[in-house]
Amino acid sequence: MLSGIAFVELEATRGQPPAEMVAEALRPDPYDVAAVDLVSLENTHNVAGGTVMAIDELRAVRKACQEAGVPLYLDGARIFNASVASGTPVREYAAEADALMFCLSKGLGAPIGSVLCGDAEFTREARRAKILFGGAWRQAGVLAAAGLVALEDGPNRLQEDHTNARRLAEGIAEASLGTLDPSAVETNIVYVDTASVGVDPWDAHDRLKDEGVLCSVLGGKVRMLTHRDVTAGDVEETIRRWPAAVSAAAVG
Ligand SMILES: *Cc1c(COP(=O)(O)O)cnc(C)c1O
Repeated sequence: MLSGIAFVELEATRGQPPAEMVAEALRPDPYDVAAVDLVSLENTHNVAGGTVMAIDELRAVRKACQEAGVPLYLDGARIFNASVASGTPVREYAAEADALMFCLSKGLGAPIGSVLCGDAEFTREARRAKILFGGAWRQAGVLAAAGLVALEDGPNRLQEDHTNARRLAEGIAEASLGTLDPSAVETNIVYVDTASVGVDPWDAHDRLKDEGVLCSVLGGKVRMLTHRDVTAGDVEETIRRWPAAVSAAAVG
């Protein structure tokens, strides 16, 4: 509302619209009413399950954007997860976007903070917009120091989160057959479709909380993440406590 933006959502498998779908969405409206000014992609894609977009797919979408003269914004909140999982350096992803944001928090481990990247004119305008939105913060330096640590050390340990997430998914899939496909877990996000075995996700959430396991519910599924404060041992403990929580929820 504040930005005066309307969204055209593209529904795509794994949260990744193919280039043809983007090109179709960018076809000019004959009445010039529905003008698209920006294409925004997310990599990895949170709601789609932490899915990774391959650099070739991104290049193809970029080409479609360039042909339509529309800039491409990359919501790379978890771009370092995408990089670790795909082996593509972040700079290669960044080179395909007109602007990119990434979080210093989340997987990289800072308590707070994000970075917005673009050319000088863009970042100048973005800083102005940030202040207009009430985002001025004078004493952010001490937190920026934590961000530097996150940037330095964070990427080196993301593989551990991905390994832990896959293990968590395998353990849950074994305990609750049919609730998820562990091979679809590409990074650090695990969605469990407890409803598919007759367990309301919020019931599962509450029972898990009673068992000392914290998760969230998104899109009707239990959502679990691995990060620097979740160890391989925690994952095993969660797998151990899972059946009690979920079968209790089923009965309750
Ligand atoms: C967390 C997140 C953001 C916003 O990050 P902030 O640090 O709150 O600005 C944007 N996009 C995605 C996909 C996110 O997960």
